[in-house]
Parts: sequence; structure tokens; C-alpha cells
Amino acid sequence: MADAQGSLMQLKNYINNDWQAPAITLDTQVCHASEGRPLFYQMASDAAQIENAIATAHIAHAVGEWAALSSAERAVAMDAIADAIGKRLEAIAKADAICTGVLLKTTSQVAQICVLAFRAAANLLRNPPVRQPFAGPHGDVIVERLPLGPAAIIAPWNAPSGITCHKLASALAAGCPVIVKPSEWAPQSGQLIAEAVVEAGLPAGVFQLAHGNGATGAALVADSRIAAVSFTGGLQAGRAVAAACARDIKPAQLELGGNNPIVVLEDADIDAAAEGIINGITTLNGQWCRALGRLLVHESVAESLLSAVTARLEEIRLGHALDEASTMGPVVHKGHFELVQQAIAHYEALGGHCLRPTALPELEGYFIAPTLITGLAAEQASEEIFGPVATVHTFSDDAEAIDQANGTPFGLAAYVFGEEQHAWKVARGIRAGNIKINAVSMLNLNPMAPRPAWGLSGLGDEGVVETFEFFRGTRIIGVAGTMEPVHG
Ligand code: NDP
Repeated sequence: MADAQGSLMQLKNYINNDWQAPAITLDTQVCHASEGRPLFYQMASDAAQIENAIATAHIAHAVGEWAALSSAERAVAMDAIADAIGKRLEAIAKADAICTGVLLKTTSQVAQICVLAFRAAANLLRNPPVRQPFAGPHGDVIVERLPLGPAAIIAPWNAPSGITCHKLASALAAGCPVIVKPSEWAPQSGQLIAEAVVEAGLPAGVFQLAHGNGATGAALVADSRIAAVSFTGGLQAGRAVAAACARDIKPAQLELGGNNPIVVLEDADIDAAAEGIINGITTLNGQWCRALGRLLVHESVAESLLSAVTARLEEIRLGHALDEASTMGPVVHKGHFELVQQAIAHYEALGGHCLRPTALPELEGYFIAPTLITGLAAEQASEEIFGPVATVHTFSDDAEAIDQANGTPFGLAAYVFGEEQHAWKVARGIRAGNIKINAVSMLNLNPMAPRPAWGLSGLGDEGVVETFEFFRGTRIIGVAGTMEPVHG
């Protein structure tokens, strides 16, 4: 596999305290997203390796050494992991840029999030949420929060390192043994993170890494010894994970897709809205769960907005993910490139007109110019495309804007541009987990704020506290009283 320097690094699992090659070499290859050249064959763990990982995690939970540590002791370990990841930031960022096509400057920011995730977990452990006891019939009724048990973490390819670290830090902090399965399309940063965790020296079996594809993820999730699953990915795999978890009635945290609206009201600052639209369609090269999917614009400002957006689209430097001059990179792989092109062709066949003035680079990678599609009814465009493509629809009043914004089964993110009080009023009508007013950025409104999802966008809020609590269950203990006889 190409490492940060472009040389070859062997893909390895970390199972039962041992680095070992995944047993299966698949016939599919990961290619350099910006250059199109093959990098390495994808690899997957076989049934014996998965069994070994699950049995090891099960034993680690039964032994309970990690869960028995005090919060302060686990916090020290979280800091040690943060330090070890800090030494690998450059390699993590470069690996993700090469495999996913996301610009190096962006993957570098995401890599920083990896460190911050473990620091946040350490802080939380030093100031853990405390549940006050209830008064019982004979003294206090105690509320305990305990690790659920072995956790499976299934990560996607679009921001693999940051997503993995948020889930991993939360599960470890909660006291769970963890098995991480990275995406087969961007497995390298997962391995670098694993090296950092191993370097930090956790008790035996508490951390494991199992490379593989959807089948590997499915095998982990389906095992009844896995007590909790945190998954980020698409709706189809999310449904499969939910169904598998339902069989064991085990908690699943599902962070899925969206088809997120940007609503531009008639009193919006057009330049700010145009800037937001560019961020919404180019961030992570459009492969962002909170990316712009539908641009909803008041009919009175549609023309001026589209001309401001067109001018900015012309300025985008679509190029190599490692080139500092690029302002946007390619999509992740050939299959995904074809899916996004098919979605564009589908909308054209429905009567849509493409606006895509950005120049394509002369590179062999999977480049798609950011594309706005006009001429479709809002209800014709309800699916997530997960690429740099958005449809454009006009509305004539707030009620219609809110109707259009709520016109999909998703509910992840939304953005409203307008005079602030007006924008707040419209935002309050939108059914989505995260609504930003007058800007679009990857930055959370507050690092401690939860990241909720409504409808088909997911289940179980993510967040520093929320994901930590996801991996814990509640136990209530107290001395019971007897029921007084009821006299008529
Ligand atoms: P996928 O759903 O294809 O894959 C996600 C992960 O699940 C991968 O590791 C994949 O393995 C694995 N997987 C696939 N099938 C199964 C299964 N049946 N059981 C268990 N695991 C399985 O998503 P992508 O990687 O393509 O990511 C893109 C999607 O993720 C988009 O829809 C996007 O909106 C969503 N997303 C949501 C975010 C959020 O916070 N809401 C954030 C980021 C992305 P492999 O890839 O190796 O085949």
C-alpha cells in the first residue's frame, strides 16, 4: 500500500495483540484518486480472524481490567493515544488525501480532529457526567453507568480518520473493548491510528483492528458477543447494520446520509450565500454527509445568486489532492465517479440543465466539476448523490421554502441565509439535526454540541458526551421496600 511517502506499506490487522496480514486478498484495487493509478489490492479478514478478534474482545471485557480502571487512569491512556497520533498526523493526512482525493489541507485539519477526539475523551473522563442518586425507601438509589461490552466501529471512507477517532475515543473512554473496521477504500489511516493506540499500551485485547469490506463489517455486527455498534456510512449498509443489531436487541448508533438544503431567503446577503454554496458543494469534494444537496432560493434573488455562484465556480482550481494550489479534488474511486455521473445523466434526462463552469484538470483521476442542476421540481430530487452535485429550486414564500427543505426523508443538516431574525424563524421550521445560519463550514457550532440526525439520516446523536454515553448502559441499585397493603 502507498504510505505517506508513496512507498509500499503492508496492510495488517491487529488482532489478539498481534500484527498479522488479513487472510483474504480481494480482486479489487484501491487507486490513487487524483491519478487513477492502482495502489494496492484490497484485503479482508477471514472468518477465523474475525472469530479471533471477537473472542479476544469478549475475553477482555470478561476480564474487565480496562473497565476497572478509574476514569482518571483511562484519561491518562487517552492522552497517551493523542500524543501517539500527534506523531503521525502528516502520514494520516497524506494517506487519506491519496486514497480519498480530499485535499491534503483538509485531511490535515481532519487529522487534527483525531488528536482532539482523544483529548476531549480525556477531559470528559476527568470531569465525568455524574447522575445524582434518587431517594429510595431505604436510603439512596444509585445510578451507575457501565461499559456495554465489546464494541464494533465501522467507518466510511470520506473522512476516515476523524470519524474513526471520534468513535474509538468515546468507546475506549467508556471502558469498552473495541474492534475497528476501516473502509476498504481508505484503510491506511485506520492502520496508522491503530499503531498509535498500540504504542499507547492498553491492556490485552482492548483494542483491535480488522481490515475488510462490507462482509467483514457484517460479520462483526452480526455476532451476539458484540454489544454495541457505531456505524457511519450510507443508508443501505446502515439498514443492514440496524437489522443485524435488531436480532440481538443491541444498540446501534447510525450516522447516515443526507440531502441537505441551503435556503436563501429574499433578504440574504448574496455574496455570503454564494460563498456558502461553494463551501457546501466543494467541501470534501462534495463527499460530505452535510454537503449541499438542494439549493432552495427565493425567486426574487435566484438570478443574482446564480450569477454570483457561477463567478465563484469559474475560480475553483480542481486538481491533485496533494497540490497546494488546488481548491477542490476528485471523487474517491472509479465506481463512485460513475455513480455520480449516472445521477447527473438521470437528472438531465428528467429535463435538468447543468451549470458547471469549473475547468477539469488534465489528470487521470476521478474529477467531476461541481455541478448545479436547474429546471427540476423539488420533489424530483430527494435522493443523496454524495458528490459535488446539487439541484436548484425556487420558492415564493417562507412556507414553501420550509416545505421544500423538509421534502426528503432525510434530516441531517440545513443552512439558511437571510436577515438573522428571519433566518431563525425559517430554521425553526426545518426538520434537521443541525441548522446553520449564514455560513457553511465543517466546523461544529460548538465542539461540545451534539450532532443529531433525523429521519433516514440516522439514529443516536453523535457528540463528545453523546457517543461516550452511547457505549454505556445504566444500572440502578438500592434497598427495596415492601408494598403497603391497600385498604378499601
Ligand atoms: P458505506 O455504507 O458503503 O460503507 C460504510 C462502512 O460500512 C464501510 O466500512 C463499509 O465497508 C461497511 N459496510 C458496508 N456494508 C456493510 C454491512 N452490511 N454491515 C456492516 N458494515 C458494512 O458508506 P461509504 O463508505 O460509501 O460512505 C459514504 C456514506 O456515508 C454516505 O451516504 C454519507 O452520507 C455517509 N456519511 C455519513 C456521515 C454522518 O455523520 N452522518 C459522515 C460521513 C459519511 P467497505 O467500505 O469496506 O465496503
